[in-house]
Amino acid sequence: MTDKNTFWSPLVHQLEPYVPGEQPVGDELIKLNTNESPYPPSPKALAAISAHAIDNLRLYPDPESTELREVIADYHRLSSEQVFIGNGSDEVLAHAFNAFFRQPKAILFPDLTYSFYPAYCQLYQIDYNLVALNDRFEIDVADYRQDNGGIIFPNPNAPTGIGLSRSAIISLLEANPRSVVIIDEAYIDYAQPSDAGVDLQSVASVLDLTQQYNNLLVVHTLSKSRAFAGLRVGYAVGHVDLIEALQRVKNSFNSYPIDRLAQQAAIASFGDEDYFQLSVDKVIASRTRLVSALEQLQFTCLPSAANFILIHHASIDAPALASFLRDRKIIVRYFSTPRIDQYIRITVGTDQQNQFFLEAIDQFLAA
Ligand SMILES: *Cc1c(COP(=O)(O)O)cnc(C)c1O
Repeated sequence: MTDKNTFWSPLVHQLEPYVPGEQPVGDELIKLNTNESPYPPSPKALAAISAHAIDNLRLYPDPESTELREVIADYHRLSSEQVFIGNGSDEVLAHAFNAFFRQPKAILFPDLTYSFYPAYCQLYQIDYNLVALNDRFEIDVADYRQDNGGIIFPNPNAPTGIGLSRSAIISLLEANPRSVVIIDEAYIDYAQPSDAGVDLQSVASVLDLTQQYNNLLVVHTLSKSRAFAGLRVGYAVGHVDLIEALQRVKNSFNSYPIDRLAQQAAIASFGDEDYFQLSVDKVIASRTRLVSALEQLQFTCLPSAANFILIHHASIDAPALASFLRDRKIIVRYFSTPRIDQYIRITVGTDQQNQFFLEAIDQFLAA
């Protein structure tokens, strides 16, 4: 008798794949578990999808997403040779691990971070060392002053939501000129730059620093702040030589990762700055209100620069609260990971969704 594993490559036996948050089918649920936008994408982007001549779908899309790369380059004041597009930023990240981190030295990332990073390391057989966040759950760049084959973390970090200043990232880059440093800015649009603009102490995008540091790769996604999780578009910005490496990997893997509808919708999304800013501002304002309501209920909320909050309550069992909420059709994210196994992560929803969530918490506390 052969068991199914007989046919598996040896590597597949060892994989511990990433487990995404629940994506329920059908049910009317309040979904505060995977950091999607509570608002729809720009109406202009939706119009661009409808306007696309569907008989063109018989034709392959532009393999290099040329127009979209130009639009993103203009938006960030770069050249299109500095932009790489992928099928969601997860694909961009996977190609980046393959392109830059498959070398003998261990790479570094935080002990509490996006759990896709160790999955890519397994897939591409890359060694890694975890660097512990400090006791306030912050990244301390001094801890990254050690020999390494590359560095990656999200800024703001996930699942903590805590942001790192530009000056800290600059000192990390200065200390690591020979490693590729990848900053995964999936949530950066929800950070609030200081009123004076983008100063060194503020948590803000370091995308512009790719002009100065040829080892810096900055990754963005349209899944969160642009409300296109279902469309699958992400991109990386970096020196042309880094981008060329990503193109080589991509063209050895899938020539057409971005379909025609996604290219058109993404282009239109970047053309609707007002709508984009308005939806981001609404989420930031709701985050502020949600944090103060939770603090009144004696929750500790880690300071969030993202569209989610990692929260803890001294007298509430986190997994019990998560399943109580699930029974009331509110899904939040619980991680059984050491250090945060008494926390839950909630995505900032609309004010109404947040209100339902708070009312359910009241019921839990009353029970
Ligand atoms: C959501 C997320 C991504 C991936 O987003 P895509 O939908 O694949 O673009 C990447 N990094 C972090 C930290 C995320 O939270």
